[in-house]
Amino acid sequence: MVARRIQAFKFELVPNGAQQRDMRRFAGARRFVYNKALALQIERREQGDKKLGYAALCALLTAWRNSAETPWLAESPIHTLQQGLKDLERAYQNFFEGRAEFPTFKKKGRGEGFRYPDPKQIKLDNANGRISLPKLGWLRYRKSRDVLGDVRNVTVSLHAGKYVASIQTRREVEVPVLTGEAIGIDMGVARFATFSDGTHVEPLNSFKPLEAALAKAQRQMSHKVKFSNNWKKAKARVQHIQARIGDVRNDFLHQTSTPISKNHAVVVVEDLQLRNMSKSAAGTSETPGKNVRAKSGLNKSILDQGWGEFRRQLVYKLAWNGGHLIAVPPQNTSRECPECHHVSPENRRTQARFHCVACGFEAHADHVGAINILSRGMKILRDEGQDTAGAPAGCESTAQIACEVSGARGRQQQEPAEETVSE
Ligand SMILES: [Zn+2]
Repeated sequence: MVARRIQAFKFELVPNGAQQRDMRRFAGARRFVYNKALALQIERREQGDKKLGYAALCALLTAWRNSAETPWLAESPIHTLQQGLKDLERAYQNFFEGRAEFPTFKKKGRGEGFRYPDPKQIKLDNANGRISLPKLGWLRYRKSRDVLGDVRNVTVSLHAGKYVASIQTRREVEVPVLTGEAIGIDMGVARFATFSDGTHVEPLNSFKPLEAALAKAQRQMSHKVKFSNNWKKAKARVQHIQARIGDVRNDFLHQTSTPISKNHAVVVVEDLQLRNMSKSAAGTSETPGKNVRAKSGLNKSILDQGWGEFRRQLVYKLAWNGGHLIAVPPQNTSRECPECHHVSPENRRTQARFHCVACGFEAHADHVGAINILSRGMKILRDEGQDTAGAPAGCESTAQIACEVSGARGRQQQEPAEETVSE
């Protein structure tokens, strides 16, 4: 089967001094445009006016670039500034659809960057590890591999004193035929992941000392005179630790998700509404969440461990290998006995042990969860596998995934869930 693969190739850029200054200016101009447009939208909202659309904002952007007040905006590539407006539109969209908080103003030095959306203006020299970008010219990058496929866009990000280009490409690939078994995963705090075969992955504990170091560095920074040399040094230290935490977490998630997606045709997870969980813990200003402190601690560790990112990696890595991710409703996965199917909170008197009050079955509670998650996924495969030919690989949403299982059907019928989950 042939599928379209979209992939990002990331490299550290090696800019000269003038290019570094230009990139910081472009990022600053993009932040300025984003914040100016956001301020305008907020003002309109307060006056009861309708929100401006993307086209109207682009017209304003042209006026700002021609204005005597902000002539420096014209020194940035127009596309990167328009992309800033597009990002604001997306932030509003995410807010309206309940996926994110209301857009906030961008602060200097926090996740800065800019994006070139037009492949016609980008030249890539794979052989020499160079890329040409509008108003920057040719830039060298630390080449670790060839970029595959047709370039679609390039995002430059400034992070902890480094300049990173993420080159997104598209290409046709041959997707291999499904191999390997199905597996269920129970995600947790005490154990990062427990599998239906009884194995598990410990949480990322090496992250905790870094977290302490980060808190210390942030405290030190807060005691310095703002913008002084010592403050800048302390700030660089904070950014360095933040980047290190991100690297450690990403390595961990990739090391965990890669073998799972290589060795399994079907992976079943719980459809945890992670964002809803963290939202309900914080509560709103009128009705603060119950046990805010205890819950936000838990949610923090959930988010720290990157469950959402882990799931995202599983989705695309499985798609690359011709497999599928299925998300099942989480209700009672930790309370149902996998042997006799008796459902009771009594089955789980402690966090770690499962002991069925009806039949006496005993196991680690997370292992039971993973078994139940797998059998629910297998049920979806059996129920919906009949009439879903030709669904595309790599769908991300649960609804789409449920209708995307046609490829796995034949194999699953030969391999019933009971055999797969036996200990
Ligand atoms: Zn039982």
